[in-house]
Amino acid sequence: MYYNNNTLLYLDGKFVKANESKIDLYSQTLHYGYGVFEGIRAYATEEGTKVFKVKEHYERLKKSCELVNIPFNSSVEELVDATYELLQKNNLTDAYVRPLVFCDPNMSLHRPNNVSIMICAWEWGAYLGDKQLRLTVSSYCRPHPRSIKIEAKVCGHYVNSILATTEAKDNGFDEALLLDSDGYLAEGPGANLFFEKEGVLYTPQLGNILPGITRATVLELAEKLGIEVKQGLFQPETLWNADSAFYCGTAAEVIGIESVDDKKFPKDWNDSLGKKIQEKYSQLVRETATTFSTK
Ligand code: PMP
Repeated sequence: MYYNNNTLLYLDGKFVKANESKIDLYSQTLHYGYGVFEGIRAYATEEGTKVFKVKEHYERLKKSCELVNIPFNSSVEELVDATYELLQKNNLTDAYVRPLVFCDPNMSLHRPNNVSIMICAWEWGAYLGDKQLRLTVSSYCRPHPRSIKIEAKVCGHYVNSILATTEAKDNGFDEALLLDSDGYLAEGPGANLFFEKEGVLYTPQLGNILPGITRATVLELAEKLGIEVKQGLFQPETLWNADSAFYCGTAAEVIGIESVDDKKFPKDWNDSLGKKIQEKYSQLVRETATTFSTK
């Protein structure tokens, strides 16, 4: 599904066959989840393949490494170029791109001396599908920001996400909604939350969530569209009383939320602010700066 016999991936400056590349079984990343990754999307546009906000993603990869003391030996520019070359070599246009910084063999709990970086890419439809989501509030909360670096995209943090998604699906829902450790609304296992009430958008403030690049894009789009957005700490009850809601993330893009624990949002998705943002997001990622308009 992710690769075939011809697929190439980028590994430490070289393009190598995916089915011939290996990771050392003694890697610190494999044993402790101590590695850092990104999720990026490429889109076919009139002017060729465009990797959306590619610099922002590699800047976040670098920052994630710095936050958790993992060496980052590449330049953002070199990785941007490698990404375009990788897509071209694999004949991919609309694709998901996954860079991963992983550590050398090391069984100690001390920062590594050497790391590798790989980038792979594959065709991937909208991660949460295109139907509105039925969510459930997770019994798991997001990790406390004093336990981990919440703003870093660290491999091991995703055990929390996997537990939450698996629990939600096992209980018959599409996806989980996680609160923070104080019980305020936080985010999805792989997406940020927005909700609408009386013409205003609300989203949890930074501090207990991953600062999503799509979240930042939604904030930019809302400003262009003249939509007011309030960021803060919100009790779950605020969401129960909302008119509509949506998740956003690179893999999920912008996707409407139908209900939380079977309580439906009253506003028709087609009339919601989320739908407007969804349409503008879809245009923005595929259009070039010169053709994009908020009209
Ligand atoms: N929160 C979490 C926990 C995530 O894993 C993601 C996906 N990276 C997001 C939010 C959305 O971030 P982005 O828009 O940068 O993809």
